[in-house]
Parts: sequence; structure tokens; C-alpha cells
Amino acid sequence: MDNHQITVTSPLLPPLEEFIPYLKDIWDRKWITNNGHYHQELEKALCEYLGVEYISVFTNGTLPLITALQALRITGEVITTPYSFVATTHSLWWNGIKPVFVDVDPSTGNLDPRKIEAAITPKTTAIMPVHVYGNPCDTEAIQAIADKYGLKIIYDAAHAFGVKVNGESILKAGDISTLSFHATKTYNTVEGGALVCHDAKTKQRIDYLKNFGFAGETEVVAPGINSKMDEVRAAYGLLNLRHVDAAIAARHKVADRYREALTGVDGITIFDERPDVTYNYSYFPIFIDAEKYGMTRDELYFKMREANVLGRRYFYPLISEFSTYRGLPSAGKHNLPVATRMADQVICLPMHHDLSENDVERILNCIKKK
Ligand SMILES: *Cc1c(COP(=O)(O)O)cnc(C)c1O
Repeated sequence: MDNHQITVTSPLLPPLEEFIPYLKDIWDRKWITNNGHYHQELEKALCEYLGVEYISVFTNGTLPLITALQALRITGEVITTPYSFVATTHSLWWNGIKPVFVDVDPSTGNLDPRKIEAAITPKTTAIMPVHVYGNPCDTEAIQAIADKYGLKIIYDAAHAFGVKVNGESILKAGDISTLSFHATKTYNTVEGGALVCHDAKTKQRIDYLKNFGFAGETEVVAPGINSKMDEVRAAYGLLNLRHVDAAIAARHKVADRYREALTGVDGITIFDERPDVTYNYSYFPIFIDAEKYGMTRDELYFKMREANVLGRRYFYPLISEFSTYRGLPSAGKHNLPVATRMADQVICLPMHHDLSENDVERILNCIKKK
């Protein structure tokens, strides 16, 4: 019996032979970083692919979050979600900002706009939501609150590469959105990331900040960081952009099969798909109600591991449970009942472009046969 290990994700690698000519060209140019040819080409290509006007590529997906907060001069308190990867909240810590955790909406896993206003204080300056799993946040409701209280919005869109609502990029929402191009994400540049903003002046400031704050040969305008993407990864990114549509289509097929097989299974909840959203199928989370399913989330998770099927308890624990943050007044479980339940019930099923039909059936057999 085929029992090879099925991993939760697998990097989208462009064909090596297609990459070699790019490397030769970089070697010929002898310009390997600092806003080089491929860096500029990748920014142009991403604007076009994603349908946005201004993008700045970075060396990973965490530094654009940190830089976004710095660029918008965010201070004091920021309202954010505990149901995310820890980098979201870490970006606040790196800016000396106090995170204020607000609970999530069970139908998306995203920050619940109905609960944001109660968490606003005179120190609140911004909201940092996450389009978790690529599910679009309720951007209109969040914008209305931000407008009412004069707050900025920075979306952590690490999961939302290519996601659209009514044909419009989700990255157009808010003041700034950030992306991660980490190896585990739908689109990768090995390590990498990007920041999307909506005007040339902000883009200029971001480009200074990711290059130590240099605004010319002898002028430094702010204590920036070094977060520039190099030419090798920019070229790799340019090449991977040609393959990402096929990868998303392959993920879509897997998601459809999961959805068909798991809809109506007692004790398993999956997210509904909205007809107005173009998804990227970055993750496939399922939520286990132990009583109805007859097994706890952890029991299923370890049973899958025994069958050599690696799911992931993503996101568990909540960010608000980590030692750095659990002392915060907003970190208590009573304040975050929905997020706490989701974190206790979630398993992300294997999801990537390389899963075969057999792999998917093996995964489903594991889950359906209790
Ligand atoms: C992956 C991820 C990040 C961080 O991106 P890196 O490229 O790994 O630095 C930030 N936020 C979320 C929600 C992520 O999933």
C-alpha cells in the first residue's frame, strides 16, 4: 500500500532549467541587490498580476508589517486578531505598540467588526486585521469604524495573494496591505514578501524605510531597516509568477474534492464559499466538534500522523496564549471565546499543487473512517 508521507504544504518550485538563464543574466549584469533589474521587474509584474498600483517587495513577510506601522507612524494601541500567525502581533511589539486582541467571526475566522468598537480607547491609532486562510475580512464594516474614529488600517494579507472580491483585489482595502512570499505560501520567492499601498508618496517612504532610511546618497530620513529583496529571489519570483495560476487551479481541485467529501459529515465544520470571492485555496481548515465527531481534534490529528498524513493545527495556540502576550488585559479566554474554540478545533488539511487524487482520497479516508 502506498504510504508515503503527505505533507501539509509543498513549495511551488519553478523548473530548474527555466531558472538557469535568469541566473546567467544576473551574473552578466553583476548587480545582485539594491533595487536591481529583477527587483524592478518583479514589482511591475506583481502590480499587474495582483491588480494594484503600488507595491514594494521585501526580503520576507514580517518586515513589511513592521515597516507599514513605522511608515504610518502608528503608536499607542492597535486592535488586532489573536487568530493568526505570531508575526502579526510581533510586528506591533517591534514598534513598541500595545496589541489589543478582539475576537473573531466564526464564519470566516477574521476579526469581528461587531466587537471592534468596544475595544477602542483614546490610545487606539489603528486596526490590524488578517484575511485569515485568504478569507476576505469585512473590509467595508472595518473601514466605517476606522473612518468614524480616525484610525488607520493595515491588513496582514499574508494568505490573500490574488484574492478578489467582485473582481477587485482585496489588497486595495485599508491604508496598507502586506503579503508573505514564504516557501510555504501559495506564491513564494523562497523567503520574501511585499507591501501594497495606494499612493506614490507612501511607496517612496516605504522604499526609503526598507533601505536603512536612505533618501539619496548622503541623506537618511528615518531609522529604516534593511529589508530589500535580492536579484536571485526577485528573478525566481518573476519566474514563479508564470506558474502560480496552474498551482492555484490544482489547489482548487483539491479544495472541491475536500468540500464534496466533507460537507455534511457529522462533527466537521468547513467554511462556506462566497460566490463573489475569487479564492486562492491557500489552506483548507476543518473544525472538529469532539462530541459530535466522536474524537477530539488532537486524537484525529495524531491519527492522521500515524497514517503519515501531516495536517497542521493552524492556528493553535492563539497568539494571545504565547508568553509575550498572555499577560495583556485583552488576552483572556473569556474575551476571545470564538477564537479559543476555533483554535481548539482546527486542523488544516494538506493543501498544495502537488497532491495527487490518490493522496486526497488517503487523507479523506483517514478523516471519514473514525
Ligand atoms: C507567513 C505569515 C507571516 C509572515 O511572513 P514571513 O514571510 O514568514 O515572514 C505573517 N502573517 C501571517 C498571517 C502569515 O501566515
